[in-house]
Amino acid sequence: MAKYVCVCGYEYDEALGEQSQNVAPGTKWENVPDDFACPICGLGKENFTEE
Ligand SMILES: [Zn+2]
Repeated sequence: MAKYVCVCGYEYDEALGEQSQNVAPGTKWENVPDDFACPICGLGKENFTEE
């Protein structure tokens, strides 16, 4: 599975999801809600790049 990294350095790992945003483990980035906010800096998905 892929990983996506925020401009602040936070990493979203599809295999892990993001509990604080109610994103279940195994959720593909394309299926992460558009209102997802980085748990560290609060920026949205457009600030993430595929690692
Ligand atoms: Zn961030």
